[in-house]
Amino acid sequence: MDALQIMDQFDRVRPALQPIVSAITHKVAGYEVLGRFQEGEEWKSLGTFFLDPDIPTEFKNELDEHLLDQAVDYLLETNQPGFLSVNRSARQLIYGDDEALLTFLLKQQQKGFTLDRFVLEVTEHDIEEEFESLNHLLRYYKTYGVQLAIDHIGGASSNIDRIRALRPDILKIDASLTRSSNLENFQDILHTLSVLARRIGAVLAYENIEDANQLYFAWKNNGHYYQGFYLGKPSCLLGEAVQLDVMLPTQIQTFVEREKELIAKRIRFTESCHNQLKKLSKWQDESHADELLDEARQLFDDRTFRLYICDESGRQVSGNLRKNQHLWRFEQHVRGSNWAFRPYFLENMMRMQRTHHGRLSDLYADIETREFVRTFSYPLTSQYFLFIDFSYDFITENDFLFMN
Ligand code: CA
Repeated sequence: MDALQIMDQFDRVRPALQPIVSAITHKVAGYEVLGRFQEGEEWKSLGTFFLDPDIPTEFKNELDEHLLDQAVDYLLETNQPGFLSVNRSARQLIYGDDEALLTFLLKQQQKGFTLDRFVLEVTEHDIEEEFESLNHLLRYYKTYGVQLAIDHIGGASSNIDRIRALRPDILKIDASLTRSSNLENFQDILHTLSVLARRIGAVLAYENIEDANQLYFAWKNNGHYYQGFYLGKPSCLLGEAVQLDVMLPTQIQTFVEREKELIAKRIRFTESCHNQLKKLSKWQDESHADELLDEARQLFDDRTFRLYICDESGRQVSGNLRKNQHLWRFEQHVRGSNWAFRPYFLENMMRMQRTHHGRLSDLYADIETREFVRTFSYPLTSQYFLFIDFSYDFITENDFLFMN
């Protein structure tokens, strides 16, 4: 594709709009604006044009304005609500007059398209490379109501400070990373981003969703917006109403049902553990703690690898009863350890004091084995609590325990 040929034939250039769907309304909330160039019968992507470092930035900005101008006119003419999400490289933003883009957007506002309907997408990579130049500029745009999205996020988690400083409205995550070989790593980065998003009031958007599994992942992992071929391809046939390729409400309903079923299984499992433990002998005193532990071990032998008892201050009053190579042994050196500093320990214990009912923990990595475990905790009295750690093997055999 020849750059000059494209610049000479703007009548063969069109925006292609890809729907971005809201998790809340299940409807199109806006569109990402992409570019297409007509060659013969075909409309070809202008992606390579914008990524080519040899094409002058001036050309890119001119073409971008042309695309956006048409996209705005299209939404105004068809009376469609929603936002337009536009990609700009750091180079494009910094090029020439700082306010060139703002001037252009203000012109769109005069046509009746308010500034808060624009989302500016800047890549995490550009934020990293050009933070000093972009920081003020982007924050300046934001004062006009333009929304900011950080695109291609999730590859690295080292830009938390920069992202926090920019206070973007949207963090765009590539859903294809769910297929990466290191899914656990991706999930940890996602967790960090979710916490960050909550703290700065941003939402997560998943893009490149290509199948139902990726949509489920996005739904389960706090996705506020969804985008990708599975939902709707970019369309440059402006004038036709956008049809989503999936029946989203039906699809989401299957996710809801699947989730409810997992939760119901966890609730039933929790109740059965509780009922089994009701058969334990009565708590006597700390000197009999190990005996009681061995009794509980017999009830859960094939499911647990470690049991212990703590008091209401988090102090361990028994040894650890631990399975090693199929043999159960007491580890006495941990008696007297204090676990009150561990996340949720005190809250969990105080809830048991109120409800007199056992509780199942979230999935977490054990600090000793580094493997995923879940813990069942049970109130022996209102001062003493039994903890049963379920083995990795047991929880992986049961999907309702292995998924959070
Ligand atoms: Ca983008």
